[in-house]
Amino acid sequence: MDIPFWLAEEAPPFAELALDTVDVEIVGAGITGCSCALTLAQAGKRVRVLDQRGVAQGASGRNGGFALRGGAARYDVARDTYGADSARELWRRTEGELDRLEELGGDAFRRTGSLRLAADDEERAEIRAEFETLRLDGFVCEWRDELPPLLSPHFRGAIYHAGDGAVQPARLVRRLAGAIAEAGAEIRTNAWVESLDELNAEHVVIATDGSGRGLLAELDEAVWPARGQVIATEPLAERLFDCPHYARHGFDYWQQLPDNRIVLGGFRDFSILAEMTDEEVTTEEIQGALDAFLVELLGTKPRVEHRWAGIFGLTQDLLPLVGPVPGRDGTWVSAGYSGHGNVLGLLCGRLVAEAILGRDDPLLGLLDPARLLGLTTGGDQFG
Ligand SMILES: Cc1cc2nc3c(=O)[nH]c(=O)nc-3n(C[C@H](O)[C@H](O)[C@H](O)COP(=O)(O)OP(=O)(O)OC[C@H]3O[C@@H](n4cnc5c(N)ncnc54)[C@H](O)[C@@H]3O)c2cc1C
Repeated sequence: MDIPFWLAEEAPPFAELALDTVDVEIVGAGITGCSCALTLAQAGKRVRVLDQRGVAQGASGRNGGFALRGGAARYDVARDTYGADSARELWRRTEGELDRLEELGGDAFRRTGSLRLAADDEERAEIRAEFETLRLDGFVCEWRDELPPLLSPHFRGAIYHAGDGAVQPARLVRRLAGAIAEAGAEIRTNAWVESLDELNAEHVVIATDGSGRGLLAELDEAVWPARGQVIATEPLAERLFDCPHYARHGFDYWQQLPDNRIVLGGFRDFSILAEMTDEEVTTEEIQGALDAFLVELLGTKPRVEHRWAGIFGLTQDLLPLVGPVPGRDGTWVSAGYSGHGNVLGLLCGRLVAEAILGRDDPLLGLLDPARLLGLTTGGDQFG
């Protein structure tokens, strides 16, 4: 029951190598660590990935399975906050990364589109503004006033994003792990890194999203752990939803899988402070809210076969910290996707790898860890 549905599927074995010395050590074998390792190993670097548990055992095997364009903020808000050019570039790059995910993922990915729903008139006005800003900047999306009978009693309009998709996240990351091992990297599981001092490689990458507390004090200040909870039902008799759906600012999200079971998560805001934790356990309050919403949505209560929790990393500006850790030579981070890491983790893990290979990407300016670690040189630091 507590095993995430995604992880219940049998994991294909990967070649277990043990390397003597390595150029890069990566803490975390989720989407970020595996993406980073893949680019490095394919470029001929000797790489070791370490994880206290196993491949995809963190948020990467415990999430809602949405593969969305963009970041965690609404696009119009992102444009105002990060600047028009930066927001546009980030959204455009995630569209490209969705194509890469499709290539790498095989049957772990389905290009279904996604439906962003408004739960009331206020949210409708917000997502309408987002829709208009997306269109203005040339991004493909459709406005939906007419909703199917199952949705129309609860929702007040939606944006359909045709390029988005659904991912079996554990299968995707396990597939990447196989490719990494094939490219000659070592994946060391059950390997708890208590301190970065234990690592000797020239480059160390922290790819722990919300679960790496204690590795670096300054990161603990900037990346806050948050818990998300999810349920998966038995397969239903009917096909009701053909793509991932999300509403209430992303606090509620669900999708129907090809075998017709529903995966539903969210309601973190019902107990928002208690859910700011890295304790990976389910709670009666949130699980009860998920059960109640299921009945409200479907009108029936299917059997729930899996219940689980996962931890993700939140940041103040909802952007991840990606790049070198200021003041710590050779230490890199890619974490804090604010609940949006399936596509961003794939992208940002690769960007860190590219930077280690000497190919700095302009997007790293926007995601520079220094902006939240209080060490930027551009600002009035002493004022
Ligand atoms: C419930 C839930 C629903 C979500 N839904 C979505 C969604 O639908 N779409 C989306 O895009 N994103 C979603 N997210 C966010 C997404 O899952 C994460 O942002 C993403 O998986 C982060 O991947 P990662 O590889 O960076 O970190 P993780 O997958 O969390 O991997 C980090 C790894 O680091 C290891 N680790 C930590 N500390 C140490 C240490 N000291 N030593 C050794 N190993 C260590 C952990 O064991 C873990 O395996 C959701 C997250 C949750 C929790």
